[in-house]
Amino acid sequence: MAEPTPFESADPLDEIQASLADLDAAGLRRRRRIVTTPCAPDVHVADRPDPVLAFCSNDYLGLAAEPALIDTLAQGARHWGVGSGASHLVSGHYASHQALETRLAAFTGMDDALYFSTGYMANIGVMPALVGRGDAIFADKVNHASLVDGALLSRADFIRYPHCDLNALAARLAASSAPRKLIVTDSVFSMDGDLAPLPELLALAEAHKAWLLVDDAHGFGVLGPQGRGCLAHFALHSKRLIYMGTLGKAAGVSGAFVAGERSLIEWLVNKSRSYIFTTGAPPLLADTLLTALDLIEHGDARRTHLAALIGRLKSSLRLERWQLLPSDTPIQPVVIGDNHETLAVSRALEAEGLWVPAIRPPTVPRGAARLRITLSAAHSFAQVDRLVEALKRLEAQHP
Ligand SMILES: *Cc1c(COP(=O)(O)O)cnc(C)c1O
Repeated sequence: MAEPTPFESADPLDEIQASLADLDAAGLRRRRRIVTTPCAPDVHVADRPDPVLAFCSNDYLGLAAEPALIDTLAQGARHWGVGSGASHLVSGHYASHQALETRLAAFTGMDDALYFSTGYMANIGVMPALVGRGDAIFADKVNHASLVDGALLSRADFIRYPHCDLNALAARLAASSAPRKLIVTDSVFSMDGDLAPLPELLALAEAHKAWLLVDDAHGFGVLGPQGRGCLAHFALHSKRLIYMGTLGKAAGVSGAFVAGERSLIEWLVNKSRSYIFTTGAPPLLADTLLTALDLIEHGDARRTHLAALIGRLKSSLRLERWQLLPSDTPIQPVVIGDNHETLAVSRALEAEGLWVPAIRPPTVPRGAARLRITLSAAHSFAQVDRLVEALKRLEAQHP
């Protein structure tokens, strides 16, 4: 926002309106679409008569509207009611939460787990519980915003390294004399779709006696045997590892969890402010998530179909000027560069009934605006083909 002139501060509302106009001019104004049908490839939005084919959800396994989850949720409501009534440390910790945590720990191969209301809250709760003033956090430059906010809340020194640059990270670790060190990374980078070099990051964490916090928002349910996540994918074990998985993406519901050593989890129960000072999630959600875990564990057919869709898109989407980023995950970004052009392409896609969001700064670096295509096991080959044909045609049309 513009600096207020000295001695005469602007009306704050005028200032906000001027700043919104600036966002418009820069092609950076965000608007919400109103969806009127369940999360699925074909959705209705409020201002359109015909359905749109969406490539934007993180519902990677197509579980968000799964009948088995709807049934469990309805039964859960009849058993528990709908609200938890209090925070977990008062009276809002139910048997279903406890069962979910036990199951999540076993499923990810960790000692223990703690269920948070959202992934954002997990990240901003864990980091300040582990490090504080005088300590140091080492973070990949393109990490998710919630990891940035967690770092800022902790008041530790916030040291960023270029994307996946292990040498730069090693140098920064070696140069630090902070008593406590925490390395944080996305496993699958949310706007790029690539995988962090987790085995090498863990080796650095071990060498420097640092924690390694891995945010597996886009890996849990998708990567690893039975969808057990990125640590299982790389077969990593260490008491320096802290695993964060979210439950609103591939798991199709909502929430998140942090898993690690038992004493670490006990510490978080005592110190994590975003766990302590919030009302417990409705216990019916924990029941629903237990069913979602069954579906994930027995979801090889969904994962196989998803992998085939990813292969289909990668082999058929040959672009000239735009760049399909190298990714083997369901996140398949097409970098266009300019904000206005990216928006125009997103709108042109929508005009033909295809919904692919334009992701612009500050979510991605300046000059790297992109279409973020996400695939789901609920998509068909024909739907992916339709998207590929439209993109090739639009690339040829847009100067
Ligand atoms: C979505 C996401 C989060 C936040 O999780 P929510 O449950 O949606 O709050 C955290 N980290 C990454 C990498 C994400 O993509």
